[in-house]
Amino acid sequence: MKASRYNQYSDHLVKKFGDKVHKLPVNLPGTCPNRDGRVGWGGCIFCDEEGSGFECLPNTLPVREQVREARGFFKRRFKAKKFIIYFQAFTNTYLPFKQFRENVLAAVSEGEDVVGLSISTRPDCVNDRYLDFLREVKEEKKLDINIELGLQTVNYHTLARVNRGHTLAEFIDAVLRIKARGFETCTHLILNLPWDGPADAVENAKVVSALGVEYVKLHSLYVVKGTVLGDMYERGEFGVITLEEYVERVAAFLEHLDPAVVIQRLVGKGPKESLLFCNWGVSWWQVKQRTCRSIRRADFSPRACSRWQSVQLPLTSGTWMSAPSFRAKFRASGLYSKWQT
Ligand code: SF4
Repeated sequence: MKASRYNQYSDHLVKKFGDKVHKLPVNLPGTCPNRDGRVGWGGCIFCDEEGSGFECLPNTLPVREQVREARGFFKRRFKAKKFIIYFQAFTNTYLPFKQFRENVLAAVSEGEDVVGLSISTRPDCVNDRYLDFLREVKEEKKLDINIELGLQTVNYHTLARVNRGHTLAEFIDAVLRIKARGFETCTHLILNLPWDGPADAVENAKVVSALGVEYVKLHSLYVVKGTVLGDMYERGEFGVITLEEYVERVAAFLEHLDPAVVIQRLVGKGPKESLLFCNWGVSWWQVKQRTCRSIRRADFSPRACSRWQSVQLPLTSGTWMSAPSFRAKFRASGLYSKWQT
């Protein structure tokens, strides 16, 4: 089997749980403080009304029903045995505490084959009361709990332009408080936001590495009709970088990423029926293939063996990661053994 050049989530889950693990998405009616006026109106300029819940079951179904239906599907189709319940759409920790608590308890009472919970939210909605409750659930049910934070970019100028309603500081604060309670975090990033350049891709990798973020999901930018970004796109107010440039940014991102960080997703996809732009008109797996192929091709160049996750990290790691601890992490990650020397 070919060694992977980055830490793949599927491999990581098998290592961690001894089997393949499937995510069961749960979509709940909700909103977001960046839509209802608490933080801002209208939401992030790329966000559609589904709040990223476009691939989920209808949000009118109770949590248990959504879990059972999704689990049945994965069992029939993939003979799946272990599951992580994923509260996906909108800002799950923005729900009133009582409702949030009920949803979580309904999900975790769904049986022995549920090994984890993943809860998606915004960095400015990570409340200590919710975290303390989740810590009780984790201890009582012996579950793996992971908080997913939408960040999209560490460039706070771009964050303002996309109307995120928070800056980099809220993200740092949220990660530190999540980690203080022993949970893992996953960060969502878009490496080709119109106002970001290649240096921002690298800075994203350095910041998540420095903070000890455990997982990353990369989404290439997609543009949905009817969003602010969609209107700007139709008026020609910005361009999207080429696929080749995007692939290069992903490679540079990986090179500067801590070896312990696991990549949950290398490329995203949007709601088919309302897309103005997505993945350069090719399927998401072709973008993934192009990225992997481009990294592999580097073996035949003068920069042979240079394109692996974290290969640039020791050069830029300063004081936060000494050489021995870097080597230990690299060995533990199972990445390419040749690189260790
Ligand atoms: S934080 Fe998430 S749900 Fe809220 S507006 Fe932005 S993308 Fe949409």
